[in-house]
This record gives sequence, structure tokens and C-alpha cells, in this order.
Amino acid sequence: MKEDRVMVIGGGLAGCEAAFALANCGIPVDLYEMRPHRQTPAHKTGLLGELVCSNSLKSEDIGTAQGVLKQEMRRIGSIILEIADRCRVPAGSALAVDRHLLGSYLTETISNHPLIQVINEEVRDLPDSRLTVVASGPLTSDALSESLIELTGQEHLFFFDAVAPILDAGSIDMAKVYWGSRYGKGESDYLNCPLSEEEYDRFYQELINADSLPVTEVDQGLYFSACTPIEVMARKGRDTLRFGPMRPVGLPDPRNDKVPYAVVQLRNENREGTMVSPVGFQTRMKWGEQERVLRLIPGLENAKFLRLGVMHRNTYINSPQLLNTALQFKDRPNLFFAGQIIGVEGYMESAATGIIAGINAGRRCLGSELATVPEDTMLGSLINYVCDPQQERFQPMNANFGLLPPLGIKVRKRADRKLQLAKRSELKIREFSEIFVN
Ligand SMILES: Cc1cc2nc3c(=O)[nH]c(=O)nc-3n(C[C@H](O)[C@H](O)[C@H](O)COP(=O)(O)OP(=O)(O)OC[C@H]3O[C@@H](n4cnc5c(N)ncnc54)[C@H](O)[C@@H]3O)c2cc1C
Repeated sequence: MKEDRVMVIGGGLAGCEAAFALANCGIPVDLYEMRPHRQTPAHKTGLLGELVCSNSLKSEDIGTAQGVLKQEMRRIGSIILEIADRCRVPAGSALAVDRHLLGSYLTETISNHPLIQVINEEVRDLPDSRLTVVASGPLTSDALSESLIELTGQEHLFFFDAVAPILDAGSIDMAKVYWGSRYGKGESDYLNCPLSEEEYDRFYQELINADSLPVTEVDQGLYFSACTPIEVMARKGRDTLRFGPMRPVGLPDPRNDKVPYAVVQLRNENREGTMVSPVGFQTRMKWGEQERVLRLIPGLENAKFLRLGVMHRNTYINSPQLLNTALQFKDRPNLFFAGQIIGVEGYMESAATGIIAGINAGRRCLGSELATVPEDTMLGSLINYVCDPQQERFQPMNANFGLLPPLGIKVRKRADRKLQLAKRSELKIREFSEIFVN
């Protein structure tokens, strides 16, 4: 009977992982993928797990957040990584793949699995009660988006992502910046980076000439629904930013009591205050350019970027309000979500959450208690972030060391600290997998 089979919507990275994890629990799955009959604006084939852009799954180096995440994913049985290993192309310490081979092997593996049936149809309506994993991605079809709005309410489904870069607070030169709120109102919640006229001019020139991504078909409608990128705003005139996001009034520098020529305000991105982002700095500058131009701001010369700014089409739900950390929809326990649609960002992040949604849909099916990934793993900290109900301005996030709880011991060198965090995560994910992974 159909109702006995778990439904997975979307045969992308997250959906394939979810289907595979479910099947590994001995549970039959119907995996719905609308391609090739109905394409998204970015996919080109009918293959499962098609990589829509870069062929790099990023670093495997254990001193990077992506390396730690991969270590964890291998431990909890990622099928994408297992197949990616067979399709590698040389790329130094990064795991880059032949995308056609990856899609072909994955399609073959999933389609030939005795417990998985692939159905190439668009799902237009969410089922009422059937156990389901929604993994329809950033380019979820219009009909399904409508159905999601019915479920979540219009205010909890977003169609664009406009994120300013996020920096490691520990990498800011505190001697050059100061705490304060405009006109001293409320708590001194912002770190202010003051610029002299000369510094402003230099920054402004580099910003207006920086190399940006073109607006493609996928991203059309962006500036109407989201906000204007900082570089586009700057090109309107030399002083536009000084009267906008870089407005200095009400922000005197306590060290000399003078109002600077311009100010960049940095706001906390997490409760621990380990991650900050410049207010109003959403951008489509190319990634290398973002780092180069932002490091011209006093105090940010050696800034470490935890995630870079993006502005693109991206369908995602307001997970902090809607999901618990088992990736279960709070108001409908038979519904799980995974992938970019929950507000994670990136190939590996999407795939990794697919494994957890699959494990938990399987556990629900079997009547077992749901699994929560320990918060001191890269994956657990990411899930905690996107499902934290105390978040006020939810924006998608990628894996990064700033999400992890501190070690609790002092380790002076940043590189050593990362290795210690990687070791801790390895230990915790092993414990998790011993209990929850077949
Ligand atoms: C244009 C673009 C470029 C990107 N480039 C990168 C990059 O270079 N590196 C990176 O790390 N991340 C990138 N991302 C972000 C993200 O990592 C990928 O989008 C990733 O594929 C997300 O995985 P997913 O499984 O959540 O969604 P997807 O891989 O998109 O899978 C979702 C699947 O659901 C299907 N689907 C949608 N609606 C329905 C429906 N109603 N019924 C049935 N099937 C449906 C789609 O056809 C698709 O196959 C990019 C995103 C976009 C939009």
C-alpha cells in the first residue's frame, strides 16, 4: 500500500541521502523527482543529485569546516560521498568530481535499490498524513511552493536569500573599533568600524569597481523582492552609503568624542558573539572581491570570513519557528524537511541534513525516539543554528567553526584550535552513529 511507503520529495543531494538512509533502515521509499519532465531554471539533466554549478564539494582538509563536515558525513553513511570518491578529479585538498559520473552513478545506485522506487513526477500538493521528507531544494516548483505556503503561512516561506558576509569576531582588530548603538539608544550592541574621509574614498572606489556576479535568469526579480546589493547602492553616488548603511551620525568614537566620516556597523550573528556581519552589506561581489574590499575597512584588515555574502533565488522555510532539531515539522509530526529548503547553504550541508531527516523519518516509522545530532559536531551545530527558535533574523547558513561551542580549554593557535574541535566532533559523531546508524 502506498501509505506504508515513505515519500521523499526531490531527488537532489538531500533527497537521495534521505531515501538511502530510510532504505538502510529497511523502510520502502517512493522518491519523487520532477525532472526531466519538468526542469528547474538551473538543472539541465534528469539525473539524481545533479550539481547545478561548481563541481567542487570543497575541502577535505580536517582543519576546515567542510573537511570536518565530510568526516562526519562519512561516519553517518553518506551515499553521495561514497559515490563522489569514485568520481574524483584532481583538485588538491578539495573533493572535486566529474559531475556527470556522480549523477549517473547516484541515479543507478538509488534506482536499483530494492527498497527505493524513483517516480519522475512533480509533487504539487503536500500529502496530509503520509510520512514524508520534503527535500525539493532552493528551486522548489511553483505548485509545491503554494502548498508550502498553505502549510507554513506566507510569512514563513522565503524566495530570496540576501546575506552579508559573516566574519569571525575573534579576527577583528579591537584596537581600531568601538562598541556603541546610534545615539546611545539601548545596549551597545554594535561594533563600529570608523572610517576617515581618505579611508572612505579608497573603500568607495574599490567597491564600485569590484567584480560582481551577473544577474542570471535564475535570479531575476531579486532586487524587487530582496534588497539592493551594497555595490549597486554605492554606484548611485559617492555619498549614498554615507547617508545609508555607513551613516555615522549618532555614533561618536568614544576615544576622541568625534563623529567619524563614515561607519560600518557589525552586528552579532549568534548569541555567543563569535560571528558578526556588517549591517546592510548584502552583496553580489565575487567571493575573492568581497574579502579584498571589506578588508579595506579599519579593523577588518585581517578578518576571517566564515561565510561570504550571497544574493540569489532560494526557496527556504523559516526553520527556527517551524522545525525541531530532528528536522521534524513541529505542527505535523509526519513531515520532515531537509536540504537547502531548511536554510542551510551548500552541497554538503544539504546532503548532510538529508541523512538526518532520513534517519528520523525512519525512526518515526518504526516508533523509535528521534535522533538529535550532538551540538559539538559541525552538523549538529549547523542544525542547531537553523532550528534555534530564538533567532530573530533568520538567514541561511553554511558549516563553519564559528557555530561550534567553544572547547572549554585555552588553545592559543587558531589552527590547533580547529584540529581540537575536529577531534571532538569525530568522537561525538562516532558515539552518535553507534546508536543511530545501521
Ligand atoms: C543556481 C544555484 C547554484 C548553486 N551553486 C552551488 C555551488 O556551486 N556550490 C554549493 O555548495 N552550493 C550551490 N548551490 C546551493 C545548494 O548547495 C544546491 O542548490 C544544492 O543542490 C541543494 O541541495 P538540495 O538537495 O537541497 O536541492 P536540489 O539539489 O536542488 O534538489 C532538489 C530536487 O527537487 C526537485 N524538485 C523541486 N520541486 C519538486 C516537486 N514539486 N516535485 C518533485 N521534485 C521537485 C528538483 O528538480 C531537484 O532535483 C547553488 C544553488 C543554486 C540555486
